[in-house]
This record gives sequence, C-alpha cells and structure tokens, in this order.
Amino acid sequence: MLTTKAFVIGHPIAHSRSPLIHGTWLAENGLDGSYEAIDVAPADLPGFFERLRAGEFAGGNVTIPHKEAVFALCDSVDELARMIGAVNTLVVKNGKVHGTNTDYLGFLGNLDANAPTWSDGPNDAMIIGAGGAARAVLVALRRRNGGKVHVLNRTLGNAQALVDEIDGPFSAHGFEDFAKLAPHIGLVVNTSSIGMNGTRFDWLDMSLLPKTALVTDIVYTPLETPLLAEAKAHGLRTVDGLGMLLHQAVPGFAAWFGVTPVVTPQLRARIEATLDH
Ligand code: NAP
Repeated sequence: MLTTKAFVIGHPIAHSRSPLIHGTWLAENGLDGSYEAIDVAPADLPGFFERLRAGEFAGGNVTIPHKEAVFALCDSVDELARMIGAVNTLVVKNGKVHGTNTDYLGFLGNLDANAPTWSDGPNDAMIIGAGGAARAVLVALRRRNGGKVHVLNRTLGNAQALVDEIDGPFSAHGFEDFAKLAPHIGLVVNTSSIGMNGTRFDWLDMSLLPKTALVTDIVYTPLETPLLAEAKAHGLRTVDGLGMLLHQAVPGFAAWFGVTPVVTPQLRARIEATLDH
C-alpha cells in the first residue's frame, strides 16, 4: 500500500498550522499518511493540479491566495463552496479534483462543541465584517439559525453585496447601527480582522447586548481578542476562534484518510502553544 498523501497549498505557507493539526491526527490514529505544507505560486497552480490528477495526493487544503483561483481548475465544485465563493478543501477521486468549503462546518462545529444550546430557538444574530469568512458564517447561520442576521461592516457596500447574494432574512448596516440593533441580538460574530495586531473596536458598547447573548470571534491571534475580553467582563458567554480552525479540518481528514478525527483538548493545547500570546 502506498502512503496516502495530503497537503495545504498557499503562497506563502510557512505560517500554516494545518500540518500540526493533521499530523497529530495521523499519529493518534496510527495511519500511514502524510500532510505537508507546499508553497505554490499562483503561476504554478495549473501545474500543481496536473500532479493532483496524476494521483500523487488524496487531496488537501487551499489557503490564501488560491481559494478563489482553484474554482476554474477543479473538475467539480459543490454548491456550498459556490455560495461561499471560496474553496478550502480538495478531494481527488479517480483522477478528478473536487472542491468544497469546510469553513462553515468549522464555525458550526466550534459553537456546537463550546456553546451547545446556541442554536436552540430563533435567535437574531449580528455578523461584524463582510469579507470571505463572513460569507461562510452567513451560510452557516442560514442553515442553523432561525432568526434575522444583520451584517455590520466598515464599508456598507460590501455588507450590502453580501446580503444581496445570499438568500435569507439578512440586512446590511454600517457600524453606527450597532446601538439600535444590540438589544435584540442573541449572537455576535466578529469576522472582521479587528482584534489582530493590537486593533480593537472603539464603538461597540457591550452593555447594550442582552445578558444572554453569546459573543464569538473567529480571529484567534490573539486567542482572547479585546472583544472577547470585554464580553467576559460584561458577564456574556464567549467562544474563541481557535475551535473553528480545528473543526474545519475534520471533513478533509475524513475524506482523505478514511477516519473521522476528534478535536480533543490535547490537540487544542498543542495548537494553542504555537500562538503568540
Ligand atoms: P477579508 O476577506 O480580507 O475581510 C476582512 C473584513 O475585515 C472586511 O469586512 C473588512 O471591511 C474588515 N476590516 C479590515 N480592517 C478593518 C478595520 N481596520 N476596521 C474595520 N473593518 C476592517 O478577510 P477574511 O478572509 O474574511 O478573514 C477575516 C478574519 O477572519 C481574519 O483575521 C482571518 O484570520 C480570520 N479567519 C479565521 C478563521 C478560523 O478558522 N478561525 C477562518 C477564516 C478567517 P471592509 O469591507 O470595509 O474592507
């Protein structure tokens, strides 16, 4: 039997934590497999797809800047990835490359594991940010959350474009609408890059949210973003973004190696140890 091989491609790729995640699962499950980070420049992407079709790999992950470019190269892309507008996982079968997106499952898996009652009953939600990650979160909330979703973004036009593209009870807002919406919100999701590199929200008054609200941030560097720290200080429930990264990796591993892996506290601790605090 040949070793089953998987990869993550990006440019650059050195920062990726995916090899540690999948390497941990390969070892835990005693599998004869490998998972490597491969730097593929945009111009080399078509050539890399030839290697895939030739059967060198069972599949792999795709990260920046290739998540949109691979659409044109895949033999098939599922509806979910089309709706989200990005492919982050490739599966090769019989010389054909299939593209999907597991970020939305990562988002749901993280909340299900760390705030199990989060989707009980209709719950109006607020997504901050309207980039690629916001799309995956909006699709996830559409599938699992009965309430309205308000998308707040620095550039109103980007929020409007997002809610126009995905069908559902969604509305677009500028940040100035936070105070008006906050008292009716059960879930706040930050998908913007605010929280990274010392940045913080200066307009978000947590005291306006109901005491039962859940606040989650998909930014995980730092693990406790200023948003989460402030939510905790106001006695609100919080879930950090590291679990999304771990849970989005599950479906790919299962497809390539044939075993559904488990997100354990040990895995989380291992990845957490690699984050800058
Ligand atoms: P993106 O497509 O570049 O979108 C960035 C978003 O942040 C846009 O809505 C942008 O607003 C907003 N933004 C950027 N700088 C801002 C500022 N100074 N003030 C206000 N808004 C600002 O990025 P993305 O792919 O969606 O990723 C967003 C974040 O999610 C990143 O930090 C990424 O690492 C994280 N992420 C985490 C996971 C996970 O597994 N936990 C998965 C995916 C992404 P405009 O529209 O106004 O530019």
